[in-house]
Amino acid sequence: MNKCIDTEIQEMLPDLLHGSLDGHERQRVAAHLATCESCREDLDVIRTVNVRFRRTA
Ligand SMILES: [Zn+2]
Repeated sequence: MNKCIDTEIQEMLPDLLHGSLDGHERQRVAAHLATCESCREDLDVIRTVNVRFRRTA
């Protein structure tokens, strides 16, 4: 697996989970995720961390 170098997309991943992206940005991230295994794994990690935060808060 190649490590993704698209830092703009990576910075938007948490916003995607929080639903704070506008439609255009969301489409851009979704299109990238469809082709990028590295970012899909990052998204899974972020989602897991968020769930843990909510449970302990
Ligand atoms: Zn990527």
